[in-house]
Amino acid sequence: MKFLRIIILISMPFTTSLAWAQPMMPEDILEQSAAAMGGLEHIRNLDSLLMTGFSQTLGQDGGSAASPHPSAPGKWAAQNSVRRYFDLDELSAFQTHRQGFLYPFALAFGHAWLPSAQVQNGIQALNHPLTALKAALGNQSELGAVSIEDDNIVVEFTINSGTRLWLGINQLNKLPAWVRWSGPHNNLGEVTYTTWFTGYVPFEGIRLPSGFTTSIDWRDNVITEFHVDGYEFNVDLPVFESASRGFGAGEILDVDVTTVAEGVWDLRLVTEFQGVETNGTAIVEFEDHLLMFEAYGSEEDTFALIDTANTLVPGKEVTRVVMSHHHFDHSGGIRAAVSRGLTVISKRENENILREMTSRPAPNFPDALARNPQPLKFIPVDEHLVLEDDSRRVDVYEVIGHMHMTDAVFSYIPQERILMQGDMFVIEWDWHWWGDNYMDSIEYFDLDPAIDIPVHGRVASFAEVIENINTQVAAAREFCVQNETAGIYMAGCPVKYSRD
Ligand SMILES: [Zn+2]
Repeated sequence: MKFLRIIILISMPFTTSLAWAQPMMPEDILEQSAAAMGGLEHIRNLDSLLMTGFSQTLGQDGGSAASPHPSAPGKWAAQNSVRRYFDLDELSAFQTHRQGFLYPFALAFGHAWLPSAQVQNGIQALNHPLTALKAALGNQSELGAVSIEDDNIVVEFTINSGTRLWLGINQLNKLPAWVRWSGPHNNLGEVTYTTWFTGYVPFEGIRLPSGFTTSIDWRDNVITEFHVDGYEFNVDLPVFESASRGFGAGEILDVDVTTVAEGVWDLRLVTEFQGVETNGTAIVEFEDHLLMFEAYGSEEDTFALIDTANTLVPGKEVTRVVMSHHHFDHSGGIRAAVSRGLTVISKRENENILREMTSRPAPNFPDALARNPQPLKFIPVDEHLVLEDDSRRVDVYEVIGHMHMTDAVFSYIPQERILMQGDMFVIEWDWHWWGDNYMDSIEYFDLDPAIDIPVHGRVASFAEVIENINTQVAAAREFCVQNETAGIYMAGCPVKYSRD
């Protein structure tokens, strides 16, 4: 830091920094930045831009690491052959790429390098200096306060949707250094994103960044890194059309309720997107309350399940939820559950991340917890916790040796021999990379399950579970062999499995 300040002092008399010593008008700052990039007129005359390169993204913003620890290694995906088109008149963008996961994933699409096409509108198109500057200087934007942050001058502006952004401009070279905005987040309430622009290189008279790094204000996680390999101006734009719908974008149509045993139900969400029963939860009746297994997906999903569960037994409501593990899809409804006063039961190691999730405010995008803040009530599990009253016993156990999720629990009802789990086994999986964990957990605690109620999929018999694990492990091994034969060495290969 000291070094930077010295540079600023020395360079003051020689640069336009003196002009900025006067009260700073946001228009002037933005126009000087446009001049530094290559000229405002030049920029205004550009209709379109194509940026090509490759990128990496952090799974679930860092919420898919094996461990909930803040320093746990993250799971990254790679996007190659990236083409990001910008319509510089409409200020929209369109990105195509092929994606592969850099860690073992259980569904084939994760390793198929499938093409993807995303339309990026509004704020999603503005994390590039050209679109950000054009938006800020556009006549539908409103310029706000000017401030200083480290070695950048920061201009606040609001686009016509009412969304506020901040553009940081480097005081020395006047080039845009970063853009910042915030958005809603299932697990974290609200998140602030900052995309840094680095390594400016001149392309046909305009300086453009060669690197983009986006970080969030949770654990300072870097969630995207983009490496540019080229720019083209005034290209013919393709039709901006998404190739597929977003994951879990479907509207909830119904909740299917199946009685698995007396006082034990399986609840599955039926969504418009998938049209079939998919993710769900087990509900277990106690003397004076109901226990739920997992607050999966989102606030909407979790409320649909809780509201349906609360109709099952007159006078009894869900007051406790077991969270199998912290992954952001599995904890997507935790804020919602806490807003309803539910106590969360999980592995002790998840307490810290649960406190992070449930203590974050969401002033600009208030979810149920922001509207009705509640403290986290947490019951930790080490190896084993017994939940018991005169009518019911449920055991909560640590999952043994699962490298997909190191701090996980599952539940077991000894009387009806029902096992409730998330991600120990999923019937739709193509490949099981961690096939030992299910039987290892059962043997470690000397259990004898007959029925499996999963978070993903459907209720299955124990025999079906074991049969499918064997098939999925064999398929994962085969996938490894195929890749190795082609000279490709996949993460997760060879498959670690000891129950042949
Ligand atoms: Zn899962």
